[in-house]
Amino acid sequence: MPESGENQQEFRAEVRKVLNILTHSLYTNREIFLRELISNASDALDKLRYRINKGEKPRHEDMALEIRISLDKDTKTLTIADTGLGMTAEELAENLGTIAKSGSEQFLADLATASGQNSEEAATADAANIIGRFGVGFYSVFMVAKKVEVTSRPAFGEGDPAANVWTSDGLGTFSVRQSDGEKPERGTIIKAYLKDDADEFAEKYRIESIIRKHSAFIPFPIFVDGDQVNTQAAIWREPKSAVSQEQYDNFYKAITYDHKNPLDRQHISVDVPVQFTALLYTPDDAVEFFGAERDNYGLDLYARRVLIQHRNQDLIPEYLAFLKGVVDTEDLPLNISRETLQENVVLRKINQVITKQSLSHLEKMAEEEPEKYDRFWHLHGKVFKLGYRDYPNRERVTALLRFNSSALGDSEALTSLDQYMTRAPEAQKTFWYVTAPNREAARLNPHMEIFRKKGIEVLFLYEPVDEFVMEGLGKYKDWDFKSIENAPADALSQFEDKEKAAETAAPLSEDDVSAFDGLLGKMKEILGDKVKEVKVSQRLADSPAVLVSPDGGMTSSMEKLFKAMQQDESLPVKVLEVNRDNPLLRDMLAIYKADNNDRILAEMTQSLFDSCMLLDGYLKDPQALAQRMNEMLTQSARWYTEIRKI
Ligand code: ADP
Ligand code: MG
Repeated sequence: MPESGENQQEFRAEVRKVLNILTHSLYTNREIFLRELISNASDALDKLRYRINKGEKPRHEDMALEIRISLDKDTKTLTIADTGLGMTAEELAENLGTIAKSGSEQFLADLATASGQNSEEAATADAANIIGRFGVGFYSVFMVAKKVEVTSRPAFGEGDPAANVWTSDGLGTFSVRQSDGEKPERGTIIKAYLKDDADEFAEKYRIESIIRKHSAFIPFPIFVDGDQVNTQAAIWREPKSAVSQEQYDNFYKAITYDHKNPLDRQHISVDVPVQFTALLYTPDDAVEFFGAERDNYGLDLYARRVLIQHRNQDLIPEYLAFLKGVVDTEDLPLNISRETLQENVVLRKINQVITKQSLSHLEKMAEEEPEKYDRFWHLHGKVFKLGYRDYPNRERVTALLRFNSSALGDSEALTSLDQYMTRAPEAQKTFWYVTAPNREAARLNPHMEIFRKKGIEVLFLYEPVDEFVMEGLGKYKDWDFKSIENAPADALSQFEDKEKAAETAAPLSEDDVSAFDGLLGKMKEILGDKVKEVKVSQRLADSPAVLVSPDGGMTSSMEKLFKAMQQDESLPVKVLEVNRDNPLLRDMLAIYKADNNDRILAEMTQSLFDSCMLLDGYLKDPQALAQRMNEMLTQSARWYTEIRKI
């Protein structure tokens, strides 16, 4: 049992789990506990300053807003004191006894994934990120401490609020009672009794270097045994010429916790129509932005060097969500409330300027450093392409889009739409595209055949959102966008063949043409409601058949998306187009002419249909397909042995 007392309370179950991991499993990178404590102290100071700016009067109004750390090697203790908002007894129990954000479960799951990583370095780097992200920051102190006392005194409240002390050994319980020991005048003092193997954290040089590494830009002075450690200037307010590459990179790492240097940076200073400076970075890593991280973007908003809001989302449009950095403006009052920030016209203007500047910046990069731009696209294109919804800037966004295509050598190569246009024959006024999970699948799509034959380039789209983007774009420089799956049969008839078919089948006699119509009718009869129609294709060169949406229908990938949304499991009914010159169809015609009720015709028709469905990404009944295939194999094996007289 830890120390007993009437105030002893149990940690909630999820806290116990998190504590258990923090105290027993994480040994490397333990230093980040300090980053967490400092960031909490800074938050508490920030909240206090915010209320002061709004005109409220705290206790000890003249006390400096600062963080003081003291170390004692003899008692192996580390103490961190802030003069911030403080907590009441109830708040101590609430804030330090539960996990506020519902993230604890996700935290545990993510931590499990991280520790499953193959390199320990990656695992601990991840653990560090995860700890900060899920609001379990405070508990990380138990990685290094065997016992912790948090003494706190609220900055506001009636009369002279008492100081209370929260104590725990990080095992199962904590207690809160009135303090009779050292009391802060205002704010919070956290005293950590270091574990035997953590006495490095009582060393001044060690603590100072951790602060420089992780907390260099905390906007309040931090003292260690009396000496101020964070003396970094707000570099975004400096002229560009005064900031070194290293300072830029360090600042980036400090605000993002990224260990790599950024891919790119913009240092912007604007006076009209609104005054602000901004330092914006593009990470050299893909930022997972969809799903859980959807809202995890934004820029840090400062007013005259004072942090007003972390990750403000009104400063950039969603499609620039990959940007990380700060905006500092003279045009906002310090005491602006978060509610009024939302429809604030200053922010809207800043957003417009940043958008325009970022587009110019990207245009310049695409022009002058195409390789860097390609890298940008591979990392952040997925987010950037959402810019198709930015109507006023759509033309510029569209020009910055990149695609893989049939004219390029491999799946990594990229083209712009303007480059595509220069390669197209004169009469072409359509950007043709096809959606597919990968390049191989795109090339195998039977709809590609006529395009290959005519030498018309096709853009390959690999992500579900791409099709929405294409539809949303409407037009670019008077060209429209169309899926090759929806190409009318005669869409390319005006273009000459670029590729001669390897061997052209002999033309059918008039009798055979009408017999073929009979075969088409038979095939429709065999397939019944599964197809709308069976007809001769004008678009195939090699493949025997292809499924086509009835006129104006959706492309197969769009259709799948909609069906998934409506949980509709039915199969689409399409037109089956067959290649009259394909050897398989010629043989089927011969069989049909000999006996139009031959059982093999039914099997072949079914199998042909199945393989078209497979290519379209539908496989409803694999058992039936496999069974049919096996029967056909058995038959052809028998014929083969007969022919070869084996
Ligand atoms: P987070 O900071 O993400 O909310 P933490 O576990 O780091 O999660 O802290 C939990 C809560 O404890 C904070 O939200 C805050 O309310 C409170 N807290 C922690 N440290 C301090 C402090 N120094 N001063 C005031 N409140 C604090
Ligand atoms: Mg915290």
